[in-house]
Amino acid sequence: MSPQWSILVFLLALAAGATISLERQALGDGAPPSDLRTSFGDRARQYFTAEELVRGRAYARGRYLLYGVRMALTLGLFGLLTMSPLSARIRDLSVSVASGRVWLTIAVFGLLVTLLYYAVTFPVSLYGGFLREHTFGLSHQSFASWAWDYTKGALINAGMMLPLLILLYTFIRWDPVRWYLPAWVILVLVMSLIAELSPILLDPLFHTFRPVQDQGLIERIRTLTDRAGLTVGPILEMDASQKTAKTNAYFAGLGRSRRIVLYDTLIAGSTPEEIELVVAHELGHWRHHHIWKGMAIGAASALAAMWLIARLLNAAADSGRFGFIHPADPRSLPLLLLLFLALTSLTTPIQSAISRSFEREADLESLRLSANPGAFIAAEVKLARANLADIEPPRAIVWLLYTHPPVLERIAMAEAFRGKQGQ
Ligand SMILES: [Zn+2]
Repeated sequence: MSPQWSILVFLLALAAGATISLERQALGDGAPPSDLRTSFGDRARQYFTAEELVRGRAYARGRYLLYGVRMALTLGLFGLLTMSPLSARIRDLSVSVASGRVWLTIAVFGLLVTLLYYAVTFPVSLYGGFLREHTFGLSHQSFASWAWDYTKGALINAGMMLPLLILLYTFIRWDPVRWYLPAWVILVLVMSLIAELSPILLDPLFHTFRPVQDQGLIERIRTLTDRAGLTVGPILEMDASQKTAKTNAYFAGLGRSRRIVLYDTLIAGSTPEEIELVVAHELGHWRHHHIWKGMAIGAASALAAMWLIARLLNAAADSGRFGFIHPADPRSLPLLLLLFLALTSLTTPIQSAISRSFEREADLESLRLSANPGAFIAAEVKLARANLADIEPPRAIVWLLYTHPPVLERIAMAEAFRGKQGQ
């Protein structure tokens, strides 16, 4: 085993050990140890029981670790492919399978790298996405159903990525310096298309949707959307409870495919006022044009990233140190993926901060629209409970990964709103 792989295996074992010991602590004998209970602040204990606090912490901390492990494995894999002669062998295999056809060589090479990626990250997916969800009582899914979802996800990813890859390398062959411009245009088009079409084409592959049955609830939601000045298509209920105990709601699609989706778990476990608040939050996103702003920011940063990658790829080709002397050689793919992943993870804190500011705006808008901070707090507490949220996450993790403000911050915002209302 090469040293890189040994380090990865060691990291994986370390993370697994830490995760399991945390989970033992939280789930072991039911009652959380008193030192754990007292390590939470007053505010946390005001809204949540000791058991909820400890379970939420254990569940979340394991997830942070798994995120790190997945990142290390992926960076490790692409790094290894970039540095080692393994990718030369994969390229030779791709050339012979494609019998000289350039586009097919890229497709085969991309497919083999994808397979390697799925092979390396499968244990993390299985543990984090299936076994752990059952340990914490969050998943109701059978293994067969989970495995089928996982396979569909992988097939969709590969099916969308491979044509894009063929196109990308066609652009690189055409113009090894300025390929990033047409590639960027295609990327932006595909992203918008996915946003528009995935609620219609992709989501039904994983869940069943039907119109919300409760006429009173529909009435309420329509009144709210009218007040916000938004026309929405269908209001749908998703059969989340078939697979998970978690709960959520979302707006999906742009333009005519726009719809409101409520998890059936949300409908079953919440009062109409609480559901109204959850919908009002989504309306807040819409009112502040967060979807468009998010896409614009995404497109601008993708352009910057692709420009930088194009330069680095050319520098790498010129240096000849990575086994390719032209950026259109399929062997440049692992380096391209490595650079893309590195840039994405380096900018994760910025993306998270932008997302958190959007979420705060949407929260505030939902409070204004509903004028019901009590229901806001009740809804937040229920969401946090059902999804086993980390009630007091470490600051550094919030800064790095949190796309939403932690639940106590959101509650504090509602309390402040209530304070102003009372004046
Ligand atoms: Zn939101």
